[in-house]
Amino acid sequence: MNSIKEIYVIRPRKIIRVDRSKTEIVIENYCNTCGLPEGLYVPSGVYIEPESPLVSGIYASDMKFSGMDCKSRMILVGVETAQLLKAQKFKGASFVEIY
Ligand SMILES: [Zn+2]
Repeated sequence: MNSIKEIYVIRPRKIIRVDRSKTEIVIENYCNTCGLPEGLYVPSGVYIEPESPLVSGIYASDMKFSGMDCKSRMILVGVETAQLLKAQKFKGASFVEIY
């Protein structure tokens, strides 16, 4: 039986396209069964479309990154949202600038 806890999941509904022409995407092997990349990494950062900076809100990348069964969408936040989150000093979150 589950007890009620005050825990939430962040599920961004707005999808932002990764700019494939500008982002360096390193692909690590292809799966023999489904043909999809086993690993997908962006060593020098992500560029997004459109190129204008996000102002506020929480978004997800259209591409999934990392390796094997651990691939997930990148969670992207706008400038204002990042400032709000940083001010709250939440544990477990780090922020990396995108382009
Ligand atoms: Zn596969």
